[in-house]
Amino acid sequence: MSNGVVNAAYIIAAILFILSLGGLSDQEKARRGNVYGMLGMGIAILATLFGPGVQSYWVLMLMVLIGGSIGANLARKVEMTAMPQLVAMLHSFVGLAAVLIGFSSALSINMGLDPSHALSGTARTIHDVETYLGIIIGAITFTGSLIAYGKLTGKLSSSPLSLPARHWLNAGGAVICVLLAVSFIGESHSLFALTLATLIAFAIGAHLVMSIGGADMPVVISMLNSYSGWAAAATGFMLNNDLLIVTGALVGSSGAILSYIMCRAMNRSFISVILGGFGATSTTLGSVDDTPQGEAIAILADATAQLLSQAKSVVIVPGYGMAVAHAQHPVSSMANKLRDKGIKVRFAIHPVAGRMPGHMNVLLAEAKVPYDIVLEMDEINEDLPDTDVVLVIGANDIVNPAALEVPDSPIAGMPVLEVWNAKHVIVSKRSMATGYAGVENPLFFRDNTRMLFGDAKDSIEAVLSAIG
Ligand code: NDP
Repeated sequence: MSNGVVNAAYIIAAILFILSLGGLSDQEKARRGNVYGMLGMGIAILATLFGPGVQSYWVLMLMVLIGGSIGANLARKVEMTAMPQLVAMLHSFVGLAAVLIGFSSALSINMGLDPSHALSGTARTIHDVETYLGIIIGAITFTGSLIAYGKLTGKLSSSPLSLPARHWLNAGGAVICVLLAVSFIGESHSLFALTLATLIAFAIGAHLVMSIGGADMPVVISMLNSYSGWAAAATGFMLNNDLLIVTGALVGSSGAILSYIMCRAMNRSFISVILGGFGATSTTLGSVDDTPQGEAIAILADATAQLLSQAKSVVIVPGYGMAVAHAQHPVSSMANKLRDKGIKVRFAIHPVAGRMPGHMNVLLAEAKVPYDIVLEMDEINEDLPDTDVVLVIGANDIVNPAALEVPDSPIAGMPVLEVWNAKHVIVSKRSMATGYAGVENPLFFRDNTRMLFGDAKDSIEAVLSAIG
């Protein structure tokens, strides 16, 4: 395949990626957006494989087969609730790939292994800057993503690591990396400096994410997504690959925008979170108040069904527990049954409900809940005082009044669904356990709250059959 054809294919792939991102911004067009993305990636891989410069086809095919089958197998088996950790793991691969490609390029140029790529003067300096940036951003992404994976799977504690002078450690590491850059990019092209800087970047990546508390993890995931994009873009510059530059920039900027939107949704400072909790006080760093705050009153499925059937308007708030219990299908059937009775039923979605952006929207779409009854937090909060029954299904942090009422709560200032303003609140969960942020929830002890204990799927199925 000639260079011209490869470039044309790259342009088509880049357009498809942009259309894909456009599609993903809207639930109704999301499926089409995914198809555009897959088509774009297919074209990009084929154009790269059959483009100039590729020789070892058998090795490549073997690697694509091995990698592709592992990926397909994992994606087929992964539970929806384990998606965020899978994404974190995939980001770590992007970071590691950037580091390995960077080292391979630096070694090959330093040792003169590929005379056709011998560079000198300004061209060499520019190439070294690209290599250095790709490796450093890739290294931070790699270890940061591994730590995020550990935190999301519960293998590492979700509470923040608070080393003394931790910001000085990060700042010191960053300064040393800049000094080492001078040594690598300068006359000596020191591979020792590059290796040392990579090790420091590994440590910075791990430390940055270790310092971030559980409640800020949604932002960390989209931030690492953004870093992986910038690492890919830097690698694209290094390899002179236009498509990698465009794709990396798309991922990098969309991840950064998403991080910013999520920070606003959680009332967190963007700069503070990306700098590993810089400026966070002990409260935002996850101190846990676990003193019981009164007595919770239980309710059974029959009484829940009765309350729901007598209501004029019902709001359902899904959370992480609905995903764990796979309760979305009975929840959707229950909503249909109530709507058939002429009751106004709507779903309220918090921007960080579940464990990844859009988690609840995906589950509700899968259970065929109509889009027009699924509302965002800002759209529904003001309607809650006029709502007869709010049914909270496996949600906790996103309906916690402590966020607004307890100034020293770890989630203080995070906008939440103000469900307690409704006439009745029913919370379906298994126990009085806390949610992801590890914070006690005073909602459970309010006079108008009743606890429907048990697995969400079993509970909702029982309510469904009791509605009749
Ligand atoms: P939470 O994690 O706050 O609460 C989920 C609740 O579900 C738990 O309290 C648990 O209580 C209950 N639960 C678990 N399993 C079941 C089950 N089988 N049946 C019924 N209930 C169950 O979830 P929210 O959705 O309210 O909040 C999301 C949290 O996750 C926020 O803190 C957010 O910051 C964080 N987060 C969000 C990410 C995102 O991108 N959306 C990414 C990473 C973190 P019990 O054990 O008693 O049943």
